[in-house]
Amino acid sequence: MTEAKRTRKPSPPRAVPAPVYKKPVVVSEAAKEGLAWLHTAKFLTTASKLNQLPQGDMPEIAFVGRSNAGKSSAINTLANQRQLAFASKTPGRTQHINLFTLGLREAPDAYFADLPGYGYAAVARGKKLVWQKVMADYLEVRRALMGVVLMIDSRHGFTPLDRQLLDFVQQRVKTGEVKLLVLLTKADKLSKREAQLATEAAQEVLGEFVTESSDIGVTLFSSMRRVGVEDVAEQLKGWMASMPARVDFELPPAGEGSAPDEEGGEARADGPGPLAAGDEQARVPGDAGD
Ligand code: GDP
Repeated sequence: MTEAKRTRKPSPPRAVPAPVYKKPVVVSEAAKEGLAWLHTAKFLTTASKLNQLPQGDMPEIAFVGRSNAGKSSAINTLANQRQLAFASKTPGRTQHINLFTLGLREAPDAYFADLPGYGYAAVARGKKLVWQKVMADYLEVRRALMGVVLMIDSRHGFTPLDRQLLDFVQQRVKTGEVKLLVLLTKADKLSKREAQLATEAAQEVLGEFVTESSDIGVTLFSSMRRVGVEDVAEQLKGWMASMPARVDFELPPAGEGSAPDEEGGEARADGPGPLAAGDEQARVPGDAGD
């Protein structure tokens, strides 16, 4: 061994984030079942318009959150697949709804809808208006929507745009038609005390949507440290169990939705573009700002 190699500078100690809580040693049967179900997630299609989404009664769970809140990481972690939510990050596709199926390949039993991340400060007003219309349309009228998983960065809490998003869906949450689960993401970055405060702050915000019929949950989550994964798996599977037996499964009409092409570019002939609202009529609220 040479002198240089022997005297190599030791690398600085790596900062290890404080654990929020210890991983449960025992995983419940319900969580195991939930995880097995989540691991069946498969990419189905991407839609640039709401009317390209499949119709029918298959229950749909939407994943929503600000850009950078950790939504793609959460979907990948829950599905135990490194690249599943990658399509949502492809240029030209960040404004699309990406759909995944859950369950058996031949007989799926649910969709996951990965909705566009919102809140880039640099996004022009016009695009924000498009976002609002699409989100309002989707959350207010998408018939099969049975649950929303909202990603909130645990260090920042609810922002005005997150609250606006809740406004779009609040009626359906209050009646219990749509269930709501808030993931306080990147919980590995918080101390135990901070995690507790973040949870309490979120509970306070969500308190105004709680009714006798509502089903609202909040969970600390970390893709990096796998905090909350079993909990979320159990809850989402529980949502499914509460649904009436499923009816039909319809793929979107040929040529409307599309799978990503190999370069990750836009496979549709009419090129990329922001997600546009479909034919359904919906309220367009005022500008969000951020
Ligand atoms: P998205 O824009 O909401 O889809 O967010 P991403 O999943 O792409 O994550 C945004 C950034 O946060 C990336 O740099 C991720 O590595 C980071 N991130 C995501 N999840 C975690 C987590 O659980 N802990 C930490 N510390 N960072 C995370």
